[in-house]
Amino acid sequence: MDHELRQEAAVLIETDLTGLPVLVVGPPGLTAPVVRRHERAGAVVTVAASPGDVTDEVCARARLAVLVGPGAGWASVRDALAGRCPVVTEPVPDAPRGRVFLVGAGPGGLELLTLAGIRALAEADVVLTDRLAEVGDVARLAPGAEVVDVGKRPGHHAVPQDEIERIMVARALAGLTVVRLKGGDPYVFGRGGEEVVAAVEAGLPVTVVPGVSSAVGVPGSAGIPVTHRGVSHAFTVVSGHVPLEPEQASALAGLGGTVVFLMGMHNLVPLTTALARAGLAADTPAAVVERGFTPDQRSIVGTLATLPDLVARAGASSPSVIVVGEVVRQAEVWARRVGARGADGLAMDVVA
Ligand code: SAH
Repeated sequence: MDHELRQEAAVLIETDLTGLPVLVVGPPGLTAPVVRRHERAGAVVTVAASPGDVTDEVCARARLAVLVGPGAGWASVRDALAGRCPVVTEPVPDAPRGRVFLVGAGPGGLELLTLAGIRALAEADVVLTDRLAEVGDVARLAPGAEVVDVGKRPGHHAVPQDEIERIMVARALAGLTVVRLKGGDPYVFGRGGEEVVAAVEAGLPVTVVPGVSSAVGVPGSAGIPVTHRGVSHAFTVVSGHVPLEPEQASALAGLGGTVVFLMGMHNLVPLTTALARAGLAADTPAAVVERGFTPDQRSIVGTLATLPDLVARAGASSPSVIVVGEVVRQAEVWARRVGARGADGLAMDVVA
């Protein structure tokens, strides 16, 4: 009997539960995913955490009841519901805890999200994002999920990292599927490693979905390949958050490959100066690519010596990627492609 009813419920869920009053009974840690599933199917869900909450009034409203968790203890609930509406049971999951996905969204909008990332969002009960611009799109990709903005924006302080980790772990331990959506790749200057540690220490299953890093994708979108046969066979991605130590600058200059700085716009002068002092020629091509994969994307192309002034004149700021190396010359080839807009050799707008 139970089996038949369970099948009936599955059919209902796959078809349409729009407007159907559904009563879900069980402890919160177990019912949360069931509630989400039914809400996504359009049901109007009432939750009863204990048999005491299953009042006559609650029973009278329900058109379908779902009992979640161990059968023992629900006998009185079954009695109360008998003859009023179909009652189905949800087996206790082996692991009642939820899980954590760290998903890389790529730079700019959500266009570069992977299929695995889209799938994780579709399963999410909670999305923690610092990508305010895309909250609407996130909500569409994660229907029914709670979307929590933990990022920086004007007049709104970023939620501190330990608080983000606390929310992420608490929600997952409550049985929810939590997606931590991050710009670019979660592990590239993204504190993804710390979030994995937090999830692992809480005993939660955790999956990391890689993303396109701005370090590679953004120069590429401006026609700058980070490697190019015969030109550069190495690229180094460096945080520009703090200026380079002289020995770091010497090591970078000595490699003879491409250097990509993230988070370096406020240090553009010390970074370029350090590389020049370490022996890179002043006329080494260098570029800033600002707001990659957004409608405001632009490139500023010059040399190690000229780039800071060009950038200051253009008023370019964060988020931008700084690229130093001979590969930057390829941007000129890119600017000549069919459909490219205005290029003057120094400052140009490149449309991705
Ligand atoms: N995990 C991210 C990087 C986070 S650090 C990744 O893999 O891309 C943030 C830095 O990334 C910014 O300071 C900037 O240097 C770069 N960045 C992120 N998004 C960008 C974008 N749309 N355009 C240019 N640079 C970007």
